[in-house]
Amino acid sequence: MRDFSMPKSSCPWCGYEMDACTAPSGLDSPGPGDLSICIQCSGFLVFDVALKLQKLEPEQEFQLALKDPAAYAELMKLRSSVREIKEGTP
Ligand SMILES: [Zn+2]
Repeated sequence: MRDFSMPKSSCPWCGYEMDACTAPSGLDSPGPGDLSICIQCSGFLVFDVALKLQKLEPEQEFQLALKDPAAYAELMKLRSSVREIKEGTP
């Protein structure tokens, strides 16, 4: 995973302010439609055309799971990593 800076944006789920994000390996930089995850609440996020964070709605999450199971699996892995970090478990 790599870290990228991005326009300052707050998490639409919890309001946490971020100006950097971590992307799954293989991604050069975040672009519109790319997925991310909030390190505070582990909510799924998607970049809009201005690289601002929007909620990944349950419907979009469902579509992703259908269309791109590998990317969806990666997201689920990220979410459990975020939760482990938050909970302080190794
Ligand atoms: Zn959040």
